[in-house]
Amino acid sequence: MEEIVKALKEANKVLVVGHIMPDGDDISSVLSMYTALKRMGKEVMPAIDWNIPWIFEELEEVKDIVDYDGFIESGFKPDLMLIVDVSSPDRIGRFAELVEKVKTAVVDHHQTHQKFTDYSWVDSTFGACAQMVLRILEKLGAEYDEKLATLNLMGILTDTGFLRYPNADVRAFKDATKLVERGGKPYVISRMILENKRLEQFKLFSEVLDKMKMEADGLLVYSYITQEMYKKHNCTSDDSSGFVSELRSIRGVEVAVMFMEVEPKHVHVSMRSREWFDLAEFAKSIGGGGHKRAAGASIEGKSVQEVIDMVVPKLVEKLQQEVGVK
Ligand code: AMP
Ligand code: MN
Ligand code: MN
Repeated sequence: MEEIVKALKEANKVLVVGHIMPDGDDISSVLSMYTALKRMGKEVMPAIDWNIPWIFEELEEVKDIVDYDGFIESGFKPDLMLIVDVSSPDRIGRFAELVEKVKTAVVDHHQTHQKFTDYSWVDSTFGACAQMVLRILEKLGAEYDEKLATLNLMGILTDTGFLRYPNADVRAFKDATKLVERGGKPYVISRMILENKRLEQFKLFSEVLDKMKMEADGLLVYSYITQEMYKKHNCTSDDSSGFVSELRSIRGVEVAVMFMEVEPKHVHVSMRSREWFDLAEFAKSIGGGGHKRAAGASIEGKSVQEVIDMVVPKLVEKLQQEVGVK
């Protein structure tokens, strides 16, 4: 952490990069760094090589986020690329091309992190990357106001399921409290993320429930969305990111999986576990990564059914093995 703080102090032009398929923690981490470093007089560019899900558009800083094309067009020449909430270079899209060319630092909390930068601070005991961002910004002497506190708080709330998941430990509550004391507004975040659904999402989810299947004596639940289903309901992958945790909330379920054809023949496998199944390890075995209770993988060149046929029997076997051991 000290090295990253030093590198940030020395840098004048900072490119802050988040991951593809960005979530609340990632957008929070990118925008908190952006907002605070800019206030310190640095030139900062927030960057994510993916569309930002529409629910986040009410944050005014979101419009400043550039993708790789926007970065190239801007002519911005960073002296430091700070990467947040990212476990491997394939997760930053085309920004991976810069890794060998500029000084790089990463702040990450993934159990599956693979070192790829000059400086790295990786600690999987943090529930959210935003908690690590908070510590760096405090070290840099950032001044918090309502805006920065709310941006920073968003990451803690989203990655801990609004302080409900097992990663919501005392430290997460304390960090959240600190940010609320500094003006952070939890209700603004919960309204934006939890109570902001389009009717089309419910209709899509209804079809997802129709297609849902249980395996391994109810320990595993899964469903899927094809490109056709997204089109039929006028939805995109932004609309379905919350479905997997809804499936996990079914009584008795240990693992929930959503197979989502986010682009033609590009299937994102989104997985959540409740209490004991280690998804970080399982996700690695199918080419993805993540945390113990939330992990994912992106599989290209296969249909949804082909990916289901590859992943489900493997998961069932692993679950049954673990139950036998327990
Ligand atoms: P998701 O199911 O997409 O919400 O992702 C859950 C967790 O797994 C997040 O922490 C992601 O960073 C991680 N993750 C998702 N997809 C991948 C992937 N293709 N490779 C590595 N990690 C991933
Ligand atoms: Mn993330
Ligand atoms: Mn995260």
